[in-house]
Amino acid sequence: MTITRFAPSPTGHLHVGNIRTALHNWMLAQIAGGEFVLRIDDTDAARSKEEYVEAIRADLAWLGIAASREERQSTRLDHYQAAFDTLREAGRIYPAYETQQELELKRKVLLGRGLPPIYDRGALEMSDAERAAKEAEGVQPHWRFKLDHSEQISWTDGVRGSAKFDPALLSDPVIRRADGSWLYMLPSTVDDIDMGITQVLRGEDHVSNTAVQIQMFTAMGATPPAFAHEALLVGTEGKLSKRLGSLGCDSFRERGIEPEAIIALLSRLGTSLPVEPIADRAKLLETFDLSTFGRAPAKFDDADLDRVNTAIVHAMEYDAVKGRLPEGMDESGWHAVRPNIANIAEVGEWWRLVTGPIEAPEFSDEDRAFLAQAAAQLSEAFANAAGGGDAPWAGLTSALKAATGRKGKALFLPLRQALTGMNHGPDMGELLPLIGEEAAARRLERAAV
Ligand code: GLU
Repeated sequence: MTITRFAPSPTGHLHVGNIRTALHNWMLAQIAGGEFVLRIDDTDAARSKEEYVEAIRADLAWLGIAASREERQSTRLDHYQAAFDTLREAGRIYPAYETQQELELKRKVLLGRGLPPIYDRGALEMSDAERAAKEAEGVQPHWRFKLDHSEQISWTDGVRGSAKFDPALLSDPVIRRADGSWLYMLPSTVDDIDMGITQVLRGEDHVSNTAVQIQMFTAMGATPPAFAHEALLVGTEGKLSKRLGSLGCDSFRERGIEPEAIIALLSRLGTSLPVEPIADRAKLLETFDLSTFGRAPAKFDDADLDRVNTAIVHAMEYDAVKGRLPEGMDESGWHAVRPNIANIAEVGEWWRLVTGPIEAPEFSDEDRAFLAQAAAQLSEAFANAAGGGDAPWAGLTSALKAATGRKGKALFLPLRQALTGMNHGPDMGELLPLIGEEAAARRLERAAV
């Protein structure tokens, strides 16, 4: 069975890049009829916050990305300790005593000579006596995973194809700090094994972590999951923008973006498939395929999101939105207003034209006479409509056209202004019955004086 996971660190809110990773892993699991695990990577006790855990859950719920189960690293520390002990026993983990400054200096020297800044394994050269001396000085070691230089690392990446790494060109990663706290690499691998993760899809920035982790899987006697790394998201400026790093569900909600618009955009962005306003997830799932993912950075453009959002809102049925509409707004109200809005929050502005109060402009004498005539003919238009004749607006305007010879703008604009206070807006044929005969008569009469 396919099991995927999304493993955020609760050190901040989800941003659009995280959301994309979560979505894609959820989609992979959905397609395969498998499971999608939410794993809270909270080993960093100082930076992890409960409020972020809650925000992550709330955002995923809002997006409709439901996890099959939730796991939490802070409850699994004994598992990491057990793996640590076994790997240390096997000679794959070793203590190192260099300070940050010493390591920085080594890096600088190597870079200065034009060499890659790979850790020189100085700690492995130390004798027992040297180690004992360090400890006697009160220096606690940090811990590194010893890469096996004799074992070339390769995998078939779901997005990037054949991937190869020479472990000798990688530093042995620090996996545990001197205070005993964990860095991300080992716990993540232990969890992927214990939780039966079969597929890991994450950002391209993790490629070299994957190389290291593949050796960890093997060292623990496990088969690595299938890995795939997607190109990162960039802003329209073409760079990894700071703004994208802080763009999350809160700001989407504030802007009136529907979760389905985010899902539609992010499931296609960076693929060879067109971004379309598809609100039906089943349709998006049908076409979701890692082989359509490109290697170039995917451009996230707010204008695309707005476009998809508007199209999705315009196709939304009344039943899907009724709980979010102003009081008293029924299905015909939604249909009248829907084509004029870019997001649901804008409904209120247009609905106000129906409920009033409205403020009409000053009219010329001529227009006032015309509006008085309209007021006089209104009840007949409504009566005809009730009797199965033309709808009120069509009946009213054709009667006024015949009586006054007005047409086009001269016919329609004063009526719209008198009835709604606006020069433009939803279709008057739909609005007039919603305003109703009584209120419409009052508005026309008031405009006529
Ligand atoms: N907590 C890690 C991160 O947020 C997880 C990376 C991963 O393995 O997917 O970068």
